[in-house]
Amino acid sequence: MTSHCGLVDTFGRRISYLRLSVTDRCDLRCVYCMAEDTAFVPRAELLSLEELDRLASAFVSLGVTKLRLTGGEPLVRRGVMDLVAGLSRHLRDGALRELTLTTNGTQLARHADALTRAGVRRVNVSLDTLDPARYRVLTRGGQLGTVMDGLRAALEAGLRVKLNAVALRGTTGEEIHDLIAFAHGRGMDLTLIETMPLGDVGVDRTDQYLPLDQLRREIETRWTLADTVERTGGPARYVRVAETGGRIGFITPLSHSFCENCNRVRVSATGVLYTCLGQEDRVDLRAPLRGSEGDAALHAAIAAGLAAKPRGHDFHIGPGGRPAVARAMSALGG
Ligand code: SAM
Ligand code: SF4
Repeated sequence: MTSHCGLVDTFGRRISYLRLSVTDRCDLRCVYCMAEDTAFVPRAELLSLEELDRLASAFVSLGVTKLRLTGGEPLVRRGVMDLVAGLSRHLRDGALRELTLTTNGTQLARHADALTRAGVRRVNVSLDTLDPARYRVLTRGGQLGTVMDGLRAALEAGLRVKLNAVALRGTTGEEIHDLIAFAHGRGMDLTLIETMPLGDVGVDRTDQYLPLDQLRREIETRWTLADTVERTGGPARYVRVAETGGRIGFITPLSHSFCENCNRVRVSATGVLYTCLGQEDRVDLRAPLRGSEGDAALHAAIAAGLAAKPRGHDFHIGPGGRPAVARAMSALGG
């Protein structure tokens, strides 16, 4: 249903948060996210910067107050800072409360100042390891130093930074204490994400999977955790670390507990609206976007998508470690 009071789905959930992928391309190939030889969509199928702006603005006019740009890697999209600067008008006029992005950090050193100038206050930076050799393996060729430079630039520019780390068997257990000390020592929260069985990335998922309750037990061997009631309308549960004062978030996408409060939808870089990360439900927004100059058809397509937003997701790791949902994370941005 669409109305002046916003976007509300059939289960009464108000949709106030849009995660918009601006590209499916990336300068890294993280082992849990993409296959080494990932095929990207033809450029003509990607929304142009103007179309991305129009689409995001339509959601804002319908009541979305939080917009996160993602990817692929959002900062490798040519002209992305023009998009950010353009969208910041919705911050200035008060329609949008927050404009943010999730990035791998490799291009942050170049863009941190411009992001701040555009009114971006916080960014999520994905970093799974502090070891350069391991980083190179996990990202299939990435240089840890570029991310460290990016983090420094972001903090110096006054951005609040949250680190996202995917919980990986054999890596995160060993490094978790260093990651906590690193993040909290720089005023950054740390969010741990359980791996999601999205897309075929060429490795067996069950080898990667590290349950967060196991990781939490390891954390508690060294740190004192206090549960908090803080929720962000998303799947993260937060604890506060007594020794540092910083927060750790736990995202368990395989648990159903957050679906009932789900406030978000996602749009791919090709203009497909996905109303649930764990389901195949989708509505094409590119045709109505390209088919008319006015936004009536676009609004109708968004309404149709919301009317079909499922109650919850249906994740599981299939037989032989095959993904339950064929779409890769990079197609949608998490
Ligand atoms: N390239 C940007 C980045 O890495 O932050 C934005 C897109 S990336 C797909 C968004 C987030 O999804 C990252 O934090 C990444 O670690 C996470 N991610 C990717 N594949 C995942 C998977 N299979 N399970 C859980 N998280 C995943
Ligand atoms: Fe690229 Fe982000 Fe996927 Fe890594 S997680 S391959 S940085 S899109």
